[in-house]
Amino acid sequence: MPTPLVRIDAVHKHFGNNHVLKGIDLRIQQGDVVAIIGRSGSGKSTLLRSINGLETIDDGLIEVDGERLRAGQTDLRALRQKVGMIFQQFNLFPHLTVGQNVMLAPQVVKKTAPADCEAIARAMLLKVGLAEKFDAFPDQLSGGQQQRVAIARALAMQPKVLLCDEITSALDPELVNEVLAVVKQLAAEGMTLIMVTHEMRFARDVGNKLVFMYQGKVHESGDPKELFANPKTPELQSFIAAVN
Ligand code: ADP
Ligand code: MG
Repeated sequence: MPTPLVRIDAVHKHFGNNHVLKGIDLRIQQGDVVAIIGRSGSGKSTLLRSINGLETIDDGLIEVDGERLRAGQTDLRALRQKVGMIFQQFNLFPHLTVGQNVMLAPQVVKKTAPADCEAIARAMLLKVGLAEKFDAFPDQLSGGQQQRVAIARALAMQPKVLLCDEITSALDPELVNEVLAVVKQLAAEGMTLIMVTHEMRFARDVGNKLVFMYQGKVHESGDPKELFANPKTPELQSFIAAVN
């Protein structure tokens, strides 16, 4: 096994008395497409948020491309440059154009020269199929288009791994596929992806690793097609039965 791109060792997280992550261990290789599934409240978002330091962990270790994050650590600049994250809500700045939204982080965080920022932004918008929307404002776009801009914005920082937390859950059903198509294309290009999703077919067909979380633990993990066909635990069996 090569050195994992993302290593999660014995990670614990509490919110007050609520023990939300109870010793998570995961190894994610460059190019892996990991789907995380599980009931509401099982700790999926907290795990993703811990990977890019939006939550501090209480115990254990997270390492992304050689950048270590330890319990209680708060200086996260190096780690955050390696990790992109996309949320259910797109969180675009409404007063900035699409192009300005995508250019902002490279400009401010990486101090990339303006001409280079524009070139990167145009390339990323082309990748998500929205080159012609460079000068549009977010409220002129559909929800699916706005989420694709959010993907372009994350990609503009050239992350090593992209975290997606239920990125199609706020969309009207007819807009889900255009966003999933972009994610699928990124996966095919070799981007390392960790996605919390309710799209079970997508998790099975696009992911190469499935992680089922249950009550703050990785309850089952492995090959998606194998796990969907032969869930070993009653908890995964009933989860799959409930979502189908
Ligand atoms: P999931 O994404 O699987 O639905 P979460 O990671 O959001 O689960 O939540 C796991 C548990 O942590 C839940 O019990 C939730 O109420 C709690 N939790 C999440 N975020 C916070 C927070 N900021 N403060 C307190 N409790 C939280
Ligand atoms: Mg969640």
